Amino acid sequence: MQITEHFSFKELTRSETARRLGLQNVPSAAEMANIQYTAEQLEKIRAYVGRGIVVTSCFRSERVNKAVGGSPTSAHRFGLAADCDAIGLTSLAFAKEIIKMRDEGKIKFDQLILEFPERGDGAWVHIGFRRNSPMRNQIMTATKKNGKTVYLPGLHV
Ligand SMILES: [Zn+2]
Repeated sequence: MQITEHFSFKELTRSETARRLGLQNVPSAAEMANIQYTAEQLEKIRAYVGRGIVVTSCFRSERVNKAVGGSPTSAHRFGLAADCDAIGLTSLAFAKEIIKMRDEGKIKFDQLILEFPERGDGAWVHIGFRRNSPMRNQIMTATKKNGKTVYLPGLHV
């Protein structure tokens, strides 16, 4: 089932952890509406960068979110975040494109996080949205310091 032209229900509800543990990852109707919203934002980003977007994680049910150690308030929990990359761009270059879009008034986001750029090809971009409260427009970099994840303001490599 396609949610939008280029994003399918399967891609936006897929979870390696859910598959491995045999957990269901089924959204409610309200969560489905959020997933639809996220897919629409991803379509805008895809059109802007002129490249395919690969989503590794979007929606997480409560059980799946617990299993991956996600925060209970994570935007993934509600279908309002995507971990993604653009084909042929580094995660840093992709994050910069999304910020350019924002600066041109073409997208709004709650949080844009460059996740673990020290991992090279193992990095990714998290983009999160809000629908019932104002978007915070935060840009951060997640990195490991002494085994703990820390969030630095802005983009860092
Ligand atoms: Zn994420």
